[in-house]
Amino acid sequence: MANSQVSSFTESIFSKMSRLSLEHEAINLSQGFPNFRGPDFLTKLACDQITDPQMDKNQYAPSRGIPKLRHTLKQRYESDYNLTLNPDTEIVITNGATEGIFCAIMSLCNPGDEVIVLEPFYDSYIASIKMAHAIAIPVTLEGPDFSPDVAKIKKAITPRTRAIIVNSPHNPTGRILTDKEQRELAQVVIDHDLILICDEVYEHLTFDQKKHRPMMAINELRDRTITISSAGKTFGLTGWKIGWVIASAPLSHAIHMVHQFTTFSVATPLQWAVASALENPASYIKSFQTHYQGLRDLFCKGLEELNLPFLKPEGSYFCLMPTPSSFKSDEAFCEKLVKEIKVSAIPCSAFYLTKPVDSYVRFCFAKDEATLKQALVRLAKIGK
Ligand code: PMP
Ligand code: GLN
Repeated sequence: MANSQVSSFTESIFSKMSRLSLEHEAINLSQGFPNFRGPDFLTKLACDQITDPQMDKNQYAPSRGIPKLRHTLKQRYESDYNLTLNPDTEIVITNGATEGIFCAIMSLCNPGDEVIVLEPFYDSYIASIKMAHAIAIPVTLEGPDFSPDVAKIKKAITPRTRAIIVNSPHNPTGRILTDKEQRELAQVVIDHDLILICDEVYEHLTFDQKKHRPMMAINELRDRTITISSAGKTFGLTGWKIGWVIASAPLSHAIHMVHQFTTFSVATPLQWAVASALENPASYIKSFQTHYQGLRDLFCKGLEELNLPFLKPEGSYFCLMPTPSSFKSDEAFCEKLVKEIKVSAIPCSAFYLTKPVDSYVRFCFAKDEATLKQALVRLAKIGK
């Protein structure tokens, strides 16, 4: 008999929609990943690391991650966000943000502890909470602005509440928390002596000059925040799975112990390559943001010209479309999209524990221009 929590798991919505895209020969705008190459300078760097004759970079890395990557991250957080980190005791390199989320939750929660999740959410939060035999308590973000309702969050807190998970820029809505929202959330976390888990994987995917600011940079939150990010989105290399978790030394130690006995360490040559890329990334990140903002604008303008409704994202690489009223659910709409229109999307109800009042589907626009244009030609058939 399988673990009682795990036995309720099914194929993830991302794997399912990518599989259906292949089966129906649809353009895959469902699972979030670019369909174009990552930056050549970085893929070349990785090849150089693998074949480096000077030093064997193909053996186990130290469990916390190679010192060079941790020291580079320390410099990045200091210069980008004015956050001072101890690279030896406050950073753990993980197999993507997904493993970081798992380790953070496992290290914090005892069976029966409660973790507040803001829905719609990234699906691995719930799975990780279940694997820890803890309980996910959903608080709904309501569209179309998806702003966190602090009164609702306070109502959801009980003596068993251990943590709140926040994601900004947000998957799937593309919202970025405002300073006011950050301050209000911070107050709740402090007043109720909670831990804040911040998923910041889209930290550099922000548009229209908007800037991401980690909540950990709020002084009173410094030692009660776990910040999680990943190189996958920033460098368009989701398959590399180089993530990191930042937390105060005692929290970080517990997170490291979980990491040590799940994966132990992370692909060594890729850590070396990411460390070099993060040393001086300003010009790359500027062109990366311009590139993705162009793709967002192309896709949104195309939808506008087709008179199709959508929410314009402030960050991330996702764009939401309300489910047309002629469909009984977002799932039914996605089925028609993948099978008949031949463009796949994600039904956002997969990102909720409760039955959502809002019904949206999510398109990923991290695709080359030709693919997005072709998808728009197909989407013109919606409602016909
Ligand atoms: N959090 C969010 C909000 C995500 O969208 C994703 C992946 N798309 C992850 C975490 C996982 O990141 P990684 O691929 O680095 O595990
Ligand atoms: N985070 C990606 C998305 O939102 C998917 C990652 C995965 O497939 N687990 O599409």
